[in-house]
Amino acid sequence: MTMIAAHIQTVRARIETACLAAGRAPGTVKLLAVSKTFGADAVVQAIATGQTAFGENYIAEAIEKMTAVRESLLALSLISPIEWHCIGPIQSNKTRLVAEHFDWAQSVDRLKIAQRLSEQRPPHLPALNICLQVNVDGGVNKSGVEPDAVLGLAQAVAKLPNLRLRGLMCIPENAPDFIAALAVFTVAKDLFNKINHEGLSLDTLSMGMSADLEAAIHAGSTIVRVGSAIFGGRHSVT
Ligand SMILES: *Cc1c(COP(=O)(O)O)cnc(C)c1O
Repeated sequence: MTMIAAHIQTVRARIETACLAAGRAPGTVKLLAVSKTFGADAVVQAIATGQTAFGENYIAEAIEKMTAVRESLLALSLISPIEWHCIGPIQSNKTRLVAEHFDWAQSVDRLKIAQRLSEQRPPHLPALNICLQVNVDGGVNKSGVEPDAVLGLAQAVAKLPNLRLRGLMCIPENAPDFIAALAVFTVAKDLFNKINHEGLSLDTLSMGMSADLEAAIHAGSTIVRVGSAIFGGRHSVT
């Protein structure tokens, strides 16, 4: 077994344990393997274990990797449906690339970006899945819509054609312990519930990373985004 395969097995076990501890069915949490800074070979090793969803932060790097992965899979006669999630900041001049190449954009925090993604989504592709990134803790990492503006943004984004609003995403600062992490993730869960009470039907709450996925799952996460616990330490950090 490769190192990456062993790490994925460990992370899947952590997810299952956290689900059971929270009284949730393990199938309700999806593992997104965050492959930023790692090459196509690492992604292919993960695919060989059955992993299908990958998250990338840097758009140019991601698109190059998608092509390389496709070629490797063809060469290996490995047929697997792969899902690519954009989880990094999206500038206006990058929306076309995101609309053309990704299945999900999890880091949408402005209506203008959503409008461009909707206009630029090629008609032959299914709707682009969208999560709104929320600044749940007012952290130094200031990207994300403010909590009191999320409902309005969600209502506007839900009306756009070619997009499918799926839910919320957050990247809180590292919390000192489980209880503190749980409190922050619960802010996101409460916002998610509030938006659904207003008549939208969100099904996705993307939160939890290598260090804090247990607390996120406890609070109701449906996608955990895990990088270093699968692929190892990164040289360049976002
Ligand atoms: C890098 C990154 C991750 C993965 O972080 P790890 O701590 O390596 O698991 C998850 N989400 C986002 C938005 C990231 O940029």
